[in-house]
Amino acid sequence: MSNAPNKKVKRVTHKPTTRQQQIRYAKRKKSLRRRRIRNRLIVLGGSVLILWAIVSLVVHLLTPAPTTTKKTTTTTDTSNYPAVTVCVDPGHGGYDGGNIMADGTSEKDVTLKYAKTFGKYLKQMNPNIKIVYTRTSDTISWPEDEVEDLKDRVKIADKANADYFISFHVDSNIDDSSLNSYSFYVRGNDAVSTAIAKKIHTNLKKAGWNYDYSIQDVSTYPLYVITEQKNRPSMLYEVGYGSNLDQAKALQKTKNINKIAKAAAKAYHDYILKHDSK
Ligand SMILES: [Zn+2]
Repeated sequence: MSNAPNKKVKRVTHKPTTRQQQIRYAKRKKSLRRRRIRNRLIVLGGSVLILWAIVSLVVHLLTPAPTTTKKTTTTTDTSNYPAVTVCVDPGHGGYDGGNIMADGTSEKDVTLKYAKTFGKYLKQMNPNIKIVYTRTSDTISWPEDEVEDLKDRVKIADKANADYFISFHVDSNIDDSSLNSYSFYVRGNDAVSTAIAKKIHTNLKKAGWNYDYSIQDVSTYPLYVITEQKNRPSMLYEVGYGSNLDQAKALQKTKNINKIAKAAAKAYHDYILKHDSK
C-alpha cells in the first residue's frame, strides 16, 4: 500500500511547547545522555576484560610449566669413616700462660680457642673420630711443674691410645716483631705429620692465609710433647707470631681462627679418610 499524497501524516514533533513539556523534554534528554554514557562504559569495560583475558592466555601459554625440582641435599654417608682417636693439645694453660702476645693476651687463651675449634671441625667432618683434649678450659689436670706438665700431656695421648697428636701454640720473637710466618714441628722421620703439615699449608693458601711457613725437625728444636710420642704421628703447630701486633690481633679474630682451624682439620680429615679407611 502506497501513501496517498493527500493523506495528512501527523508529524511527531519533540519540540516542547509548554513549560512543563520543556522540563520533561530536558529530563528525557539528560537521561538519554546518561544511558548513552553508561552503554559506552559497559562496552569499554567489556573490551578491557576481553583484552585482559587474551593477554593472560598468551602469557600463560608462553610461560614454561614449573618443573618439579628435586631437592639436591647431598648427605654424605659417614657411617664407614675411620673411628680414629686424635689427641688435641692446647699449648700451656693454668699456671703457665705461655707468651704474652703484643696486645697483652696470654698465649694459653688463644691456643685453647684454636684447639677447640679444630676439634669441633674435625668431629663435624668425621663424626666417628674421637677427640681427646689435654684440657678444655684453663683448669689443668697436671701439677704446676713444667716437666710434669709436658709428661702428662703425652700420658693423656698414650692413655687414649691416640692415633694422632696435635699441639697448638702461638710463636713469639721479641727481637723481630715483623715475623708473621707459621711453623710445624715434627719428628724428622714422621712422614705422616709432614704430609699433613704440607696439606694444611695448601688449605691455608686456598683460604687466603698467605704467609710463609716452615716444617721444622724436632731433632734441631727439641720439644718434649713431640719427641716423646714414640711412633705416634705428632705435630706442634705454631699458628703465627703473637709478638707481631698486627698478627696478634689477626690471630684472635674469630673468622681467622675458623679459617686456620678448618684448614688444619680438613688436612687431618682427608689424610685419615685416605689412609685409615678399611
Ligand atoms: Zn707456646
